[in-house]
Amino acid sequence: MTAPLRRRPDRRYGMRMPALLDRHGRPLRNLRLSVTDRCNLRCQYCMPDDGYRWLPRGDVLSFEEIARLAAVFAALGVDELRLTGGEPLLRQDLPVLAGMLARVPGVRELAMTTNGVLLRESAGALRQAGLHRVTVSLDTLDADTFRRLSRRDDLARVLDGIAAARAAGFAGLKLDTVVIDGVNDHELPALLDYARGIGAELRFIEYMDVGGATRWSMDRVVSRARMLELLQARFGPIRALRRTDSAPAERFELGDGTVFGIIASVTQPFCATCDRSRLTADGMWFRCLYAEQGTDLRALLRGGAGDAELAGTIAELWHARDDRGAERRAHDPHRRPLLPQSQLRANPHLEMHKRGG
Ligand code: SAM
Ligand code: SF4
Ligand code: SF4
Repeated sequence: MTAPLRRRPDRRYGMRMPALLDRHGRPLRNLRLSVTDRCNLRCQYCMPDDGYRWLPRGDVLSFEEIARLAAVFAALGVDELRLTGGEPLLRQDLPVLAGMLARVPGVRELAMTTNGVLLRESAGALRQAGLHRVTVSLDTLDADTFRRLSRRDDLARVLDGIAAARAAGFAGLKLDTVVIDGVNDHELPALLDYARGIGAELRFIEYMDVGGATRWSMDRVVSRARMLELLQARFGPIRALRRTDSAPAERFELGDGTVFGIIASVTQPFCATCDRSRLTADGMWFRCLYAEQGTDLRALLRGGAGDAELAGTIAELWHARDDRGAERRAHDPHRRPLLPQSQLRANPHLEMHKRGG
């Protein structure tokens, strides 16, 4: 049975846009497409271990399959797609896929989150293909810290990639920084200065206990409150800006007008307005970053399901969505990493680098 499409006011579109709502009234708007589970970095908050199991090549969705699923999601109300990974730029011919997705009717925004290592080589082609926005993960400006955090020596390439994205003309360039106590928390002002200098908006992210974060502990989390203290000590009073959408980042403004964001997934979870879901490179659809169960859309697709059947399944599952993973964990006083390594090894779909963050 297909779940009903209920109408509700939508601030971005007035009253006209029908929205598919879950059990908490949250619309399906935002889809993260992981295009590969491989990565050229080994960030300690995401892939701190060795011996990961990769998806068999034959299981990975083709560009045509991704574009078809994207079109089905778009017909159900998704208007924002984000390419992610693993490292999305490791997927061969990514600009071809970007071009296909940019043409999907209803897609208002096509973005990508990347570690930036390979961005210099492909920024121009991606922009030409129709990619609208780029977010680069940048945790440090110090080469030694970069090496310790990612187990690779690629800071210079990331900075070149950021420069190439600017040169290619991407508007609204964003930088994402996962902040870890004792690792890069002393760099917050320098990172903000850097972002301001290149006209990018920086978002500081609390270290989450999700997926492969097997080294996570609460005392390594730098809370939003602490981040604001650290920034205030250097830049003076900081003003909170009013929220205008369901984006996870809360935005703040320095006295000189510099705007930055904080994504406080651990201390201030934003599940109440979460409109995003994730499709892995092999077509598993997860309706929460913390969900242990996904739905195998590849099996449906390759089993011959038509668009109407796919749409019906997606609508029904979204309608039943009850997930509030981060919020539920926020009440656990003995919070530890979400999953032990043994469970991640047994089911690699639980990894953050499979789901796309
Ligand atoms: N490889 C690309 C990159 O790093 O930008 C895209 C995939 S990565 C999984 C997407 C985002 O997830 C990155 O910004 C990364 O910093 C974030 N992330 C991964 N593990 C995290 C964790 N434990 N806590 C908070 N953010 C995390
Ligand atoms: Fe780091 Fe992104 Fe790779 Fe994870 S997927 S290890 S966050 S670069
Ligand atoms: Fe959305 Fe799940 Fe993250 Fe909450 S924990 S914001 S429901 S993805």
